[in-house]
Amino acid sequence: MIIGLGLTVVAFAVAGRRLWWLRRLALSGQPAPERLEYARTHAATDTKTQLTEVFGQRKLLKWSVPGAAHAATFWGFIVLLLTIIEAYGDLFSRTFAIPGIGHWAVIGFIEDLFAIGVLAGIGTFTVIRLRNDPHKEGRRSRFFGSHTRAAWVVLGMIAAVIVTLLLYRGAQQNTGVFPYPHAWAFASWVVAQILHPLGYGVNSVLEVVFILAQLGVVLGFLVVVTYSKHLHIGLAPLNILFSRRPNGLGPLEPMRSNGKVLDFEEADPDTDTFGIGKVEDLSWKGMLDLASCTECGRCQSQCPAWATGKPLSPKQVILDLRDHAFAKAPYLLANEEQRDSLSDLIKAEATRPLVGPAEENGVIDPDVIWSCTNCGACVEECPVDIEHIDHINGMRRHQVLVESAFPQEATAMLNNLERKGNPWGMAEDRRADWITELDFEVQVIDGAIPDDVEYLFWVGCAGALEDRAKRTTKAIAELLNLAGVKFAVLGPAEACTGDPARRLGNEFVFSMLAQQNIETLNEAGVAKGSGKKVIASCPHCFNTISREYPQLGGDYEVVHHTQLLAKLVEEGKLTPVNPVEEKITYHDPCFLGRHNKVFTPPRALIEAVPGTQAEEMHRCGNRGFCCGAGGARMWLEERTGKRINTERIDEALALDPDTVTTACPYCTVMLGDAVNAKKAAGQAKQTLEVIDVAQLLVRSVKLREVQGQKQD
Ligand code: SF4
Ligand code: SF4
Repeated sequence: MIIGLGLTVVAFAVAGRRLWWLRRLALSGQPAPERLEYARTHAATDTKTQLTEVFGQRKLLKWSVPGAAHAATFWGFIVLLLTIIEAYGDLFSRTFAIPGIGHWAVIGFIEDLFAIGVLAGIGTFTVIRLRNDPHKEGRRSRFFGSHTRAAWVVLGMIAAVIVTLLLYRGAQQNTGVFPYPHAWAFASWVVAQILHPLGYGVNSVLEVVFILAQLGVVLGFLVVVTYSKHLHIGLAPLNILFSRRPNGLGPLEPMRSNGKVLDFEEADPDTDTFGIGKVEDLSWKGMLDLASCTECGRCQSQCPAWATGKPLSPKQVILDLRDHAFAKAPYLLANEEQRDSLSDLIKAEATRPLVGPAEENGVIDPDVIWSCTNCGACVEECPVDIEHIDHINGMRRHQVLVESAFPQEATAMLNNLERKGNPWGMAEDRRADWITELDFEVQVIDGAIPDDVEYLFWVGCAGALEDRAKRTTKAIAELLNLAGVKFAVLGPAEACTGDPARRLGNEFVFSMLAQQNIETLNEAGVAKGSGKKVIASCPHCFNTISREYPQLGGDYEVVHHTQLLAKLVEEGKLTPVNPVEEKITYHDPCFLGRHNKVFTPPRALIEAVPGTQAEEMHRCGNRGFCCGAGGARMWLEERTGKRINTERIDEALALDPDTVTTACPYCTVMLGDAVNAKKAAGQAKQTLEVIDVAQLLVRSVKLREVQGQKQD
């Protein structure tokens, strides 16, 4: 008993000290009162989230085999808490049984069942890790860059927990102190049969030895957990509790400093933080993200940048930030006087630039943060709800606003946004050019939208100015016109939503454009509650207007054109009649699909067109693969690895489609470029095209013009 209790006191002291240190480190980050507010105001959904994400293992089970293994281990450890209580009870009385339930046969059975479940789980993990050995598989392994040695130690410890458990229970059966009917605890019974020939005396000794060994391993595990990636056992529920609602996708967080949304007009360069320039500029929730990472590599395995040979791995970003935060911790937790006496090593760590090349000893290489397309695949996959995009964009914000360090090719785009309100720097009045190519009138408003017009069509910069995207715009307008939907456009009064600037990290230009647009939209009288709706054909505009403008006081009801067109087809206001006998695959735009969960309407439109033979690419829906344009990457050079759009088109070509459809002007351009390159290289048929689903629909609805459209 003395040994058991002594071990417990030591283990709790060591683990408690470490947890206290972690708490202090997390609180050295920026305040994040909004996270406490989310958790408080979303208590009902939080409970549901905890139930589905933590106890239901929802995200983990998306990967069936490792998910099932993790669920077995997770639930095993919860159930086996009973056996730990029993082991402690045995320290005081050999015949201890949990009051009330301690002799129920079914409890003995369940304990053994879950013990075997845990063994099966770690056996599966062992096979998975051997098959995904980063030393053999290199970048293809999701464990590439993870601390694999620590993972093996923990797997060994879990195995030891179960083995010592079964051994002491088996010995207990032989000494007659086991609290449950023997055969029900079937695994312990098997062990008891093996130990039985050793006789009562030896079994009595084994009982004591393995109870102590069991407690020793459990307590050792407790300590190891607090010093390893297995911290997630305790921190994952907290991280999920304080994560963004409904998730870290969709809008970017507004820029905050000292816990408040930053107002550029009142910002003080001496006291305010501008993005993430030092690790302690992360909020405590950001710090919690770092400590919660399980190093599972699910994010890395889905990242288009990583898959195409770029230096960015979302997992590695988190691990590098974590390693740096831990190494810098003595500095962060010290006062000014104590800092002077810190070792040179710690002082050197404290002065490392957070973003900087290897020769400057930077924690994160600039190419890493600029490789991100903001596609959201990492956030979607992460089982502990880490918000990678917020961290990457936080670092971009600091680089742009404070260091003026960003890929130079973006300079022209930013200047064009500031001067002309579009990334290409074209004259404002060119925004209405597409209308002159139609054979019907489109209302261009300058001020309030007329009472009898229900929709304001937000055309977007690409939709108004880029040739391929203009075809989509015209198709949408034609379809709305055919369906008798009354709509108007802003024409020259429309400006870029600011999405490329915001995603690049230039929050200043974003807020300037956003405020201008909010004023325009409010003057048009389309604010929420007015009965008017905004149609967006670009998922980036859709995301920004509907989910980011509310951060600046602009609230609108926004529909994507595929949602409205699908509704019009369903209501019989648009009838696709002309067969399109083609094999068609659909590419999910990240900002429509994964970020905003609009998956069905575009597919419904393809299905509504008679003759189409739809086939999904391997990576589709929530697991859709980016086209490479998001996160302002549309305006940046892609110098390293394979082009992301080429990777995507290679996947499409494997299906040998006649047409690749999508629902985003960025995707249309990126995938169109990749197809053109393939055609030029003789690797794709010359008739293959990339079009928006609206273009497909208009071909089927407008019987007479099919041939003309195809040649467009
Ligand atoms: S958002 Fe996409 S590109 Fe960026 S790190 Fe995550 S998965 Fe990679
Ligand atoms: S960030 Fe999330 S998905 Fe990526 S390795 Fe860590 S826990 Fe896994």
